Amino acid sequence: MRLLLALAIALAIGLALTFKGSAVVGRIYMKEATTQAATTLRLAVAALDGHLKRYEALPALIASQNNIEALVFDPKNEGLRARTNAYLKEINALLTSSDIYVMTMDGQTIAASNYDSPVSFIGENFIYRPYFQDAAQGRQSRFYALGTTSSKRGYYFGSPILVDGVIRGVIVFKVDIDLIEDSWKGTDDRIFVSDPEGIIFMTGSPEWLYSSINPLTPERIARTEASRRYADAKLRELPFQPGTYAGHDVVKIRDEGKEQEYLILSQPMPEAGWTVNVLMNTAPVRIQANTTVIAVILTLCLAGLAIAIVLQRRMRLAERMQLQAEARNELERRVVERTADLARVNSRIKEEIAERRLTEQRLRQTQADLIQAGKLAGLGQMSAALSHELNQPLAAVKTYAETTSVLIDRGRIEEASDNLRRISALIDRMASISKHLRNFARKPNEKLGPVSVADVLRDTLEIVDARLKAADAKLETEIARGVPAVKAGAVRLQQVLVNIITNAADAVEGLEDRRITFTASANGNKVVLSVRDRGPGVPSAIHERIFDPFFTTKGVGKGLGLGLSISYNIVKDFGGSLSVADHPEGGAVFLIELDVADDNLLEAAE
Ligand code: ADP
Repeated sequence: MRLLLALAIALAIGLALTFKGSAVVGRIYMKEATTQAATTLRLAVAALDGHLKRYEALPALIASQNNIEALVFDPKNEGLRARTNAYLKEINALLTSSDIYVMTMDGQTIAASNYDSPVSFIGENFIYRPYFQDAAQGRQSRFYALGTTSSKRGYYFGSPILVDGVIRGVIVFKVDIDLIEDSWKGTDDRIFVSDPEGIIFMTGSPEWLYSSINPLTPERIARTEASRRYADAKLRELPFQPGTYAGHDVVKIRDEGKEQEYLILSQPMPEAGWTVNVLMNTAPVRIQANTTVIAVILTLCLAGLAIAIVLQRRMRLAERMQLQAEARNELERRVVERTADLARVNSRIKEEIAERRLTEQRLRQTQADLIQAGKLAGLGQMSAALSHELNQPLAAVKTYAETTSVLIDRGRIEEASDNLRRISALIDRMASISKHLRNFARKPNEKLGPVSVADVLRDTLEIVDARLKAADAKLETEIARGVPAVKAGAVRLQQVLVNIITNAADAVEGLEDRRITFTASANGNKVVLSVRDRGPGVPSAIHERIFDPFFTTKGVGKGLGLGLSISYNIVKDFGGSLSVADHPEGGAVFLIELDVADDNLLEAAE
């Protein structure tokens, strides 16, 4: 929009400049042309003036010659005439004038320099010529005209011939103007001389001769005919229309169907009685002015175009920069928003992490408490079994001790020492049971380290033995060769196995197939322990829930629902996993997957 406005303004300025500019430029060129034309005019006037001046004084000088005076005093004297004729011819040749002739007061030519030529003036009467009439009245006269006899144009200087103070005749000098006129031909400027009526008498353009630059009114024609200035020459009007161009006088001339404009400069020559005119063709000036204006306009257009291009570029650049700035601002705004969002999310995550940590801490605390509670519960269960286990050996020890004292009394020392060995063995067995109880009751603070699966299984069996016997279950163990030590805590792993095997014993109790299978095998850097029973299995609906605390399907007083939950967390603490599956042939399979212990640790343990 702004660009359009600027273009419109530029156009208006351009148009104004074109009009104003062409006028200004036209004036400059016209001034130059005028100076040129003025020089031409000055030269033409000077040439004409010089030419005429040469002859101006001559008629009076020659009129005072004795022989001339004598002739006009005695015009009929043939001898005098002949001498005068010869004299005039001689002078005429000498002065390079056209003709010299002498007239009597009645206008009759009595002597002439061309007396012997076919167009001799002798006998001609020029009384009608103003130059004769003026001179006859005693004045020095001048006239230009077309010769009525010779049909040759010339400038006439007339002078009275005074004899004793009386005008007796007139002498006339006719001067040729052809030479001067010839010098005007072929020039670029048109030079012409016009008479007071506006009729062209001399011109470098022969076709304009005897044409009038003024309308040929009857008065003008009458005045011209009276002096017979142009003899029988045919006069015509030259369509001459004055005007101005760039503050200078111009004329438009329609000649031979072609209109042409000229700058016109005129200078009257009052002494000669004519006006010298110079016409200069304005076409080159106009072309030059127009070319200059066009060149200036083109230059302005180019400059305008360049400015427009520069402005447009700057506008585009500004637009682009603004777009970039907007995009940058938008981006920054988004980044700020995003950062704020992220900060919010971050702080929420931090809060959640803190919450989780707290929950985890609480959970671990609860877990530790539960383990302890579980253990105490297990202890209660076990104490019944243990009292049974310990009572038997104790009764046996008592019996062996009583028999030993009897045997010593009877001197049967060998049998007595045999009894003592049995007592010792029974005490060892009881000590071993009590040691496990101590371990079980202690809160685990052991570190994770390489634990031999076989060792843990052996200790476990000692604890679960009584329960297995009570359920009449049979435990089969298959420990693959070379099973590496696992990363665990021996007492806690033992606790896990006690739990799972006890559950298996519970499951198979009272069934036909009461086999429980324990296997241990290596699988890459893992060791998998499995406990399989042939019981009813775990329904898939409660697969997930059996590891929850206090989940039990056993009757009140029989199960707390803590065993698997505690076991699950213990195995997790080892970095392993505990899962349950149903065996295709029936029964449940509990899988404990543990990491193989680090070699270095194993070696350190060994
Ligand atoms: P509890 O033995 O005190 O019930 P557990 O956490 O040891 O608690 O066991 C949770 C439940 O998992 C049991 O009540 C039982 O329903 C199921 N369960 C555990 N072991 C077996 C198994 N070998 N066969 C079938 N069900 C089992």
